[in-house]
Amino acid sequence: MSTPPLVVIGAGPIGLSAAAHAVSRGLDVVVLEAGPQAASSVLEWAHVRLFSPWSEVIDPVAATLLVGCGWEPPEPTAYPSGADWAARYLQPLADALDATDHAQVHYGARVTGVSRQGRDRLVDDGRLEAPFTVLVTTAGATERLTARAVIDAGGTWATPNPLGTDGLPALGEHEAARRISYRVPDLRDVATRNRYAGRHVALAGTGASAQTVLAELGALADSEPGTRVSWLVRRASASGSFGGGTDDQLVARGTLGDQARRVAGSGVVRTVTGFRTTGVGTAADGSLTLTSVDGQQVGGIDEIIAVTGFRPDHTVVGELRLGLDPVLQAPTALAPLIDPNLHSCGTVYPHGATELAHPEPGFFLAGMKSYGRAPSFLALTGFEQVRSIVAAVAGDREAAERVELVLPETGVCGGAGAFDAPEDSCCAAESDILPMPVHTS
Ligand SMILES: Cc1cc2nc3c(=O)[nH]c(=O)nc-3n(C[C@H](O)[C@H](O)[C@H](O)COP(=O)(O)OP(=O)(O)OC[C@H]3O[C@@H](n4cnc5c(N)ncnc54)[C@H](O)[C@@H]3O)c2cc1C
Repeated sequence: MSTPPLVVIGAGPIGLSAAAHAVSRGLDVVVLEAGPQAASSVLEWAHVRLFSPWSEVIDPVAATLLVGCGWEPPEPTAYPSGADWAARYLQPLADALDATDHAQVHYGARVTGVSRQGRDRLVDDGRLEAPFTVLVTTAGATERLTARAVIDAGGTWATPNPLGTDGLPALGEHEAARRISYRVPDLRDVATRNRYAGRHVALAGTGASAQTVLAELGALADSEPGTRVSWLVRRASASGSFGGGTDDQLVARGTLGDQARRVAGSGVVRTVTGFRTTGVGTAADGSLTLTSVDGQQVGGIDEIIAVTGFRPDHTVVGELRLGLDPVLQAPTALAPLIDPNLHSCGTVYPHGATELAHPEPGFFLAGMKSYGRAPSFLALTGFEQVRSIVAAVAGDREAAERVELVLPETGVCGGAGAFDAPEDSCCAAESDILPMPVHTS
């Protein structure tokens, strides 16, 4: 590669999509993936079925590349699991990219730092002309790569939020780690099933993952009597935690919420509202007791599942000049479009290079990581992000500023944020609804 390539951090759905867009424009691209294969994070939730059908989790530009390699597209209306997504689309895409003259995909390659060549964060002089330096560790050896631009699509999977509701680990959380899962458990796995069968499980969280856990534990309780759930909800009511049901434009996401609502209304689940966890204690009989900030307690717990969202880790790019929103840790111009405290209706406008720009030209966050702590990321959003970013890197401002996507609406109010707000306070006021961003050249 004679001129420095575009470097993409992460061979997940959005990093690979970015590479496909680069190849389609004839740009050289290097994808650095910390895991042993493509979609390493997706494979950690291989057992979870997506609520998006195939048609919404395949980037059209990537599909064109794949079809050219003899790939058979999956049935567009079917719903893949994480395992299907990886096996039938993401790994074949990584292989197809690697087979082109323009792309290289490296596995076991963890990026540990990104900076401007010869300039730390302080130095202005010559900064804009300098390429990026990317520090990457592969099999114990560290090397420096030079990049014309960097897209960090490293996701947030490795950094789940803690059980403590204030964002800090609850007292005793580390000590009880063996009995806390931060993921949706795979109940088809016999050892995992035995871990929860007939047990008292405390579940924290109200997003799509919590809905999945409720549905799964409800099904487990049908065949394993004694299985029961204490569902800990921060808000004063759990009624807004089941999504938009039939109003959701993503049918499977609506159905999941309906399933969770049914299980929550069954005898299997006791919903504990207004519960903000601060402590985990172990009783003399070995069971766990959770304590909330106002002194409520839920005891006799065998296992805890905390699916309380994710947060981005920006340490790898800490030497760059980032423009991050102080609340979401997402790019400053993107944050107001996705902040659940501002508008929790789930409607997110498509956005691209303009909203994702930082004071450090040529560096972009994309994919799940670009959303910071906001919970509403969809793969479709990421495909549009990287289409626009790669166009900007290629110097095609017109394509970078064009919006080419309409996203499905959730059909629900009362998203993850503003959990103390009255149930009907969101979406009602016109002032809550942000105008469509206007792209100017
Ligand atoms: C359980 C679950 C279900 C979901 N269902 C849907 C759905 O139905 N529809 C939908 O549209 N979206 C869904 N999403 C949201 C989103 O589309 C996925 O999370 C998607 O995987 C995000 O892609 P990504 O490429 O941004 O990040 P990831 O998939 O997290 O990929 C990031 C990659 O970067 C690698 N990496 C991280 N750090 C480094 C580093 N320092 N150096 C090198 N590599 C690194 C990781 O190993 C990983 O492979 C779901 C998410 C989850 C968790």
